[in-house]
Amino acid sequence: MMRFLTLKGPFCRNCGTAVRRDMTGKTLLQGWWSPVSLVLFTPLALLWNLFIKFKIDKLPAPVPGQPGQQLDPGQSLLKRPAAIGLLIPLAWVAFMVFQAARGS
Ligand SMILES: [Zn+2]
Repeated sequence: MMRFLTLKGPFCRNCGTAVRRDMTGKTLLQGWWSPVSLVLFTPLALLWNLFIKFKIDKLPAPVPGQPGQQLDPGQSLLKRPAAIGLLIPLAWVAFMVFQAARGS
């Protein structure tokens, strides 16, 4: 099972950062569980999110009194529990090396 999530703006910088961190965090935790996702889709999704980050960082900051609710950008992605998801592909590689070593 695989799904791609995209959200359309408009976002200010705060809201865009909040959404990007949230979605990238989900990708880090959930994106590695099939071989095709592992080697292809998830790395591409993460690269795409990085590209989006540079676009979001250029957005204007929210102005005081701006209508609509502002999202809290929250903690940097690497300070979140989801960062542990970065270890999953390493675990895969270790597993495959182990299997290869055992088979030879
Ligand atoms: Zn906003």
